[in-house]
Amino acid sequence: MNLMEEKQQKLAKIAEEVKKCTRCDLYKKANEAVPGEGHPQAEVMFIGEGPGFWEDKQGRPFVGQAGKLLDKLLELIKLPRKEVFIGNVIKHRPPENRDPLPEEIEACAPFLDQQIAIIDPRIIVTLGRFSLNKFFPGEYISRIHGQARVIDFAGKKRIVIPMYHPAAALRSSIIMEEVKKDFQKIENFRKEKNVS
Ligand code: URA
Repeated sequence: MNLMEEKQQKLAKIAEEVKKCTRCDLYKKANEAVPGEGHPQAEVMFIGEGPGFWEDKQGRPFVGQAGKLLDKLLELIKLPRKEVFIGNVIKHRPPENRDPLPEEIEACAPFLDQQIAIIDPRIIVTLGRFSLNKFFPGEYISRIHGQARVIDFAGKKRIVIPMYHPAAALRSSIIMEEVKKDFQKIENFRKEKNVS
């Protein structure tokens, strides 16, 4: 088995655990768990908040309106969706899309941490404040979006680029412009291979 197959197998095992997860109560009202999907050795990993209506129906991340925008933004920088990994802080949909509770985020965190460790992405793009606060507690997107920072995570230095959530861009043309500009930075960092 090569490294990619090994990673694929490990990710599939996590996905199975996510589907059976009862660590918090969200599974009770959710339809499908959404473990995340994408390339097992992605250079770029996107981390959103949690499943919405369509994700909960399909068991896949970012397949609703925000997902369609994410697809367009990826096209804009010529980064195929199948080359990245797309995950979420929360793997089961919170009822009525309410904000996830701190204890739900904590219960779900080991899944995301393991996914990051396996995929080993050089670049992590956080989408929205819950994903941002995983890496930078207490920070505000409005203050640091688009500003790449190098952090130590899962045993390695990684570039984290905080961005607004695509759903926020759909609500505001000003944020849409910011998101488009921020996405261009992913391209720049992909070209520049030296992390520090
Ligand atoms: N919003 C998110 O944060 N994640 C999804 O998977 C879909 C919408």
